[in-house]
Amino acid sequence: MGILFPIDRVRSEFPILHQQIYKRPLVYFDNAASTQKPVQVIDAIRKYYEVDNCNIHRGVHYLSVKATEAYEEARKEIREFINARNTHEIIFTKGTTESLNLVAASFGKRYISEGDEVITTIMEHHSNFVPWQQVCLEKGARLRIVGIDEKGALNPEELEGMINERTRLITLTHVSNVLGTINPVEEIIRMAHEHNVPVLIDGAQGISHLPVDVQAMDCDFYCFSGHKMYGPMGIGVLYGKEKYLEEMPPYQMGGEMIRDVYTDHTTFNDLPFKFEAGTPNVEGVAGLRAAVYYLKDLGMNAIAAYEKQLLDYATAMLAEIRGVKFFGTAASKASLISFLIGNVHPYDTGMIIDKMGIAVRTGHHCAMPLMDSLHIPGTVRASFSFYNTIEEIDLLATAIRKAKEILE
Ligand code: PMP
Repeated sequence: MGILFPIDRVRSEFPILHQQIYKRPLVYFDNAASTQKPVQVIDAIRKYYEVDNCNIHRGVHYLSVKATEAYEEARKEIREFINARNTHEIIFTKGTTESLNLVAASFGKRYISEGDEVITTIMEHHSNFVPWQQVCLEKGARLRIVGIDEKGALNPEELEGMINERTRLITLTHVSNVLGTINPVEEIIRMAHEHNVPVLIDGAQGISHLPVDVQAMDCDFYCFSGHKMYGPMGIGVLYGKEKYLEEMPPYQMGGEMIRDVYTDHTTFNDLPFKFEAGTPNVEGVAGLRAAVYYLKDLGMNAIAAYEKQLLDYATAMLAEIRGVKFFGTAASKASLISFLIGNVHPYDTGMIIDKMGIAVRTGHHCAMPLMDSLHIPGTVRASFSFYNTIEEIDLLATAIRKAKEILE
């Protein structure tokens, strides 16, 4: 490898990677679905339950205050990690899906009416597609969908052509979980803002691969999940600009999101608590904080550079196998490869590769509109993390050749 990356140390910190599957070393290439967790994250969760566990915000006693402080410190860490202007612009959710549903429901209620339009893209994950489709159906609004070219890239001019005085929001993914395409979000946001249209970025696949600076990007919302960035499941983040979050109504009602409750009406708490009803995932936040430390320590630029080498190597290796067709070959791409072998069903390929100890994902990847537009039932997806190696990619190439032999 051309760049220095502490791969041996990194691998030693992920206990799950050191096991045998079907008597072979596990090769984990399903990182776009969920990443594995380093000992630092696992330890943070154990420590939380061993010494800190308590419900937060409502107690005066020692443990409750300590747990609350740790939870709020974590919010500051996340703010810093994505360079949000204000800590109260960081809302904890259970993941990208909940963050997106929160915005669709609340922004939809406040800003979307009959005849309005929302723009999205054909490459969205269902969680950034269905909530908007449903809000539009409910409100009598129109969901407009930008297509992709043969490489799997968006055309920003096509998107700009769709903006008009009825456009209320543009919502798109930072990185496609199927094609790997890194969308030109800065350019799209600049363009949208010239028309006074806010932009939501689904960062589920962006946050673990790229440095994210929400102020430099100038997005109005950015959503991500802990479990795709080496943190725990069941925790995620919604970043939103204060001006929108202030105006948007609460998403769920209950404890903590209120200021005063009367028999006939209720006043709501300040940000971020207005959007955090009920007992939050305090354990998840402790784990997420440790994951953020971990990523900061490695450095997002170093991660991106190492993963680019893995992607380039894997692309070259797989391109040598006759009959392998790639889906997503955009110039700007994150470290995943979606492919098919000839006309073989992705599920069959995935099954054989699995028996060789390699975890890849097969299917529509929660992007049925994209699959329809490509006229395929699904793909095989190998998604790489910074704990993967060149040797593992060699094993994948061998496994694909074997699968090809068997299936063709
Ligand atoms: N958006 C994208 C681009 C994704 O890849 C995913 C997860 N596959 C999601 C949203 C949903 O994330 P979660 O299931 O963690 O809520």
